[in-house]
Amino acid sequence: MAPRIHIKQQQTRSESCQLHILVVGAGLAGLGSAISCALAGHKVHIFEATREIKEVGAGIQVLPNSSRVLQHWGLEETLTPHMTFPRVCNFIGWKGNPISSLDFHESEKGYPGTWYRDFHRADLQRCLVNRALELGVQITCNARITNVRVSDDGAVATAVAADGREWGGDLVLGADGVFGKLTEELLGREDPPVKTGDLAYRLLLSTEEMRKDPELAPFVNDPQVNYWLGPDAHAVNYVLRGGDLFNMVLLVPDDIPEESLATTIEGNVEEMCSLFQGWDPRIQKLLKLCESVQKWRLCIRFGDFNWAHPSGAWVMLGDAVHATLPYLASGAGMAFEDGAVLGECLSRLPDNPLISKASAEFLHAKRHALAVFQECRKQRTKMVVERGNIQQYLYHLHDGQEQQERDYKMQMTPTPEGE
Ligand code: FAD
Repeated sequence: MAPRIHIKQQQTRSESCQLHILVVGAGLAGLGSAISCALAGHKVHIFEATREIKEVGAGIQVLPNSSRVLQHWGLEETLTPHMTFPRVCNFIGWKGNPISSLDFHESEKGYPGTWYRDFHRADLQRCLVNRALELGVQITCNARITNVRVSDDGAVATAVAADGREWGGDLVLGADGVFGKLTEELLGREDPPVKTGDLAYRLLLSTEEMRKDPELAPFVNDPQVNYWLGPDAHAVNYVLRGGDLFNMVLLVPDDIPEESLATTIEGNVEEMCSLFQGWDPRIQKLLKLCESVQKWRLCIRFGDFNWAHPSGAWVMLGDAVHATLPYLASGAGMAFEDGAVLGECLSRLPDNPLISKASAEFLHAKRHALAVFQECRKQRTKMVVERGNIQQYLYHLHDGQEQQERDYKMQMTPTPEGE
């Protein structure tokens, strides 16, 4: 029997040492860090710019590393009904020739207690919201934070919303995503996300029609993750919600006009299909089932700057500081790991009714905790961003010697991603 990951119990803290943490953004990074900090015994309030936390995005693959974190936060039971467990991950050449396969059932045995699962992002996010509320986290929507004011001693951080409302706290967590403006605002310099030259078409197909086609039915009846690798592009797909939905992502060269400020625009289905002319006929069949589609420009951030204010009044995490290409399916996983590490660091702050959180001793400990958090996370997240870029190169090779060498190596060393 595989050992289970233990569920963390919520810490109690003396009020004098309990931080009031203000989290900017209710994405996966904001929610995860809120849960982790609440478990560490701190008071947490999340601010989300949108009117409500609604269904955005499509599929998310959760790899063994972050499955540990989700279990530790007590989420396994509520997530279980929403998980799809793929049997295998197949790498396929763009014309349909098999390259290599990884048996998830087998590879899970090497990582006892962990799992590899696929989710609809909305289901994952809803479970995180519910867990956060259960732990006493407050969530305020329709609150776009545009600035953070810091007192001279760094003891008080005030989050200021676009409509003038203000909230005071001891620490602000900036989790406003890759296109969020807070990083630039807080760092006091222009630091736009870096374009990668790729964009993603994200499709969610109903599986009803697929089940009627003997060539497509196996994708639904035998849950699997498939990667087709081709010149300048690749395609990924897997089922969601127990086979009700089919998630497909096409990664192609970015043709959104350079000067366009929009990062997500309406795509054209015919244009999308034409990009995959000559590919495995099953891809063409799948694309024909699509009625409308959106294009997402893919940008990254290397995070080569200080994520925390020297005073210890705020710190950034998630895509806001280390957005990666989704080619290792690890962006959300890195966000969860950020939350786990930050919660652990903040759980070790002094907890003594005789010590005030405004005292020099406590402020020093808070700054130290944020420094340790950065130290633990920077190198790992940078490695993932860099490996995402390498994956872009390898996945998009044109037919030839390098492509043949890649395929040969993939056949020799199939390793689980996300290690
Ligand atoms: P976001 O999800 O962008 O959340 C930021 C939140 O902050 C939003 O809710 C936004 O409204 C809010 N906000 C912004 N500005 C403000 C403000 N000023 N005030 C208040 N609120 C604000 N990762 C995986 O692990 N596995 C996968 O399989 C995977 N697949 C992917 C496929 C694609 C095509 C893409 C594009 C990404 C994929 N990722 C995957 C990456 C993953 O989705 C991201 O890394 C993750 O969602 C980032 O979470 P975040 O909370 O940092 O940012």
